[in-house]
Amino acid sequence: AAKKYGKSTIRHYDPAIAARQVDRLQRISDLEKAVAEQQFEVHYQPKLSTRRSHALHVEALVRWHHPSEGYIAPTAFISIAEETGMIVDIGDQVLTAACKLIANQRKSGAPALRVAVNLSVQQLYDANLLKRFEDILSRHGVHASELEFEVTESAFINNVDAAKGVLSALKSAGASIAVDDFGTGYSSLSYLAKLPIDTVKIDRAFVQGVPSDSDNATLCKAIASLAHSLRMSVVAEGVETKQQASFLSGLDCDQLQGYYFAKPMCESDLLDYVNSGDWQQVTLD
Ligand code: C2E
Ligand code: MG
Ligand code: MG
Ligand code: MG
Repeated sequence: AAKKYGKSTIRHYDPAIAARQVDRLQRISDLEKAVAEQQFEVHYQPKLSTRRSHALHVEALVRWHHPSEGYIAPTAFISIAEETGMIVDIGDQVLTAACKLIANQRKSGAPALRVAVNLSVQQLYDANLLKRFEDILSRHGVHASELEFEVTESAFINNVDAAKGVLSALKSAGASIAVDDFGTGYSSLSYLAKLPIDTVKIDRAFVQGVPSDSDNATLCKAIASLAHSLRMSVVAEGVETKQQASFLSGLDCDQLQGYYFAKPMCESDLLDYVNSGDWQQVTLD
């Protein structure tokens, strides 16, 4: 039995903890089944250009279509997928969906799509990543320049050299690289100069409340200016209001993404959206 708090490592049996462990094991086995049965669906959220654009840029966001629970958001399963390594297979399924979409879109003669895919740190450091991705792209006749990869800066902590190898290979194949959730990762800024980064995505946390939140407004301004000085493009994520949109486009952000413009949508809704042509440039009225 447990003796004293803080000293003993022995604990009383705690039914609440045990119940959580059972839940977690259930989740893992459900997720294994989901990977095997490909229960994932990819939704796409547009990133609108502040200049006139001829290709629509979208971000692929995975959803789990659970047989009894319905749609499950990535925040509820990505961390388990990362801890168990299943993220590698899920990532392949997301990239496959993105490549199919790009290839079908090209065949239909409709405006081109460029799809951004999120990469977890476990994928980035998977020894077979490049081989797996090459296989998926060539199977669907997609060129890497039709893809972008979003990686959070926490992936670079203590690992800049390893990250450089993988990102440089993706980059020299023709893909673009974006730093996701910029400014939230407690990372040093030195990686910005060392890694082949094309784009910085200002995290939603900084976009909230601008322009009336003057601290956030200052941070957005500083991030945009830093990225542009390093010849990177700037995307603001989580744009929910017209005020935010006009402030951020005034900072010369290259693309804006958020519920104000478009929510993540299923593939068929996305195709309607592409054909509507509404995306060709940010409109603020
Ligand atoms: P993220 O890559 O930073 O994606 C942005 C998240 O913010 C998405 O949540 C999106 O639906 C949401 N969002 C977009 N606009 C707005 C807005 O205006 N307001 C608010 N409140 N939210 C907005 P989602 O789809 O739940 O994804 C959450 C995170 O899960 C992603 O953050 C990403 O880190 C991860 N994720 C999603 N799909 C994948 C994937 O295929 N692979 C990996 N490794 N991670 C993924
Ligand atoms: Mg992202
Ligand atoms: Mg993000
Ligand atoms: Mg995020």
